[in-house]
Amino acid sequence: MAKIIAVSNQKGGVGKTTTSVNLAACLGKMGKKTLLVDADPQGNATSGVAIDKSKVKYSTYSILVDGAKAEQCVLTTPYDNLHILPSSLDLAAAELEIAEKPHREALLKNALLPIKQYYDYIIIDCPPSLGLITANALTVADTFLVPIQCEYYALEGLSQLINTVRRIKRQYNESIEIEGVLLTMYDGRLNLTQQVVDEVKKFFPRKVFKTVIPRGVRLSEAPSFGMPVIYYDKSCKGSQAYMTLAEEIVGKERG
Ligand code: ADP
Ligand code: MG
Repeated sequence: MAKIIAVSNQKGGVGKTTTSVNLAACLGKMGKKTLLVDADPQGNATSGVAIDKSKVKYSTYSILVDGAKAEQCVLTTPYDNLHILPSSLDLAAAELEIAEKPHREALLKNALLPIKQYYDYIIIDCPPSLGLITANALTVADTFLVPIQCEYYALEGLSQLINTVRRIKRQYNESIEIEGVLLTMYDGRLNLTQQVVDEVKKFFPRKVFKTVIPRGVRLSEAPSFGMPVIYYDKSCKGSQAYMTLAEEIVGKERG
């Protein structure tokens, strides 16, 4: 049975998509059967694994709005053990279209349950908001992973995310737990970065991953080739960091 991890932070540009794509690809590389769910209308996780989003027929939107079956929507990717439930441009409208549906927070959950058994991990790339799509992701997830960019306003808005998780816990998913907080875009040359790291550790005691993702140009280049970074440049620091993160997550499972 898959472990479902939602990658969430309502701030944009903190590394959610980069983390979802690369964590999923590294888990796949380790031999874990992995499904990446693109729940962001921007579809950057979809194009990040070489799927042309303009040609996507069945997507997360089809699941939320049309009640499509997940088997119908999941695509294979060119990468080891990695499937994707793609996003499409119309997903932006889904929030409004499902607002009046019964069980509107459980639509993704109901769709993923029948395929959960085929995977070891399901990683959900959430949009940069705390609306209904994120609520759907948190309702189906076993855990959530929060990427935080090492910059001034890193902690801004996090109390809202924590409140949303509390609400979801109360109403829909009492067993959801925090997988961990991931520091991203770390630049050791900046004093500020270390201050942010210390502040985040104070805010989330014992929840911060040992692995820290460095800022690196290979990580930002890889998506334009539709490649997770381990396939683009397997020896760069970003590849090593995401592989270590995947090992940390798999190890935690065992322990
Ligand atoms: P989000 O999904 O939270 O909006 P992204 O993962 O799309 O954030 O990252 C925002 C931008 O920063 C993207 O252009 C991405 O390529 C870049 N980026 C993310 N992580 C790194 C990193 N560790 N080093 C360099 N660039 C990064
Ligand atoms: Mg994103």
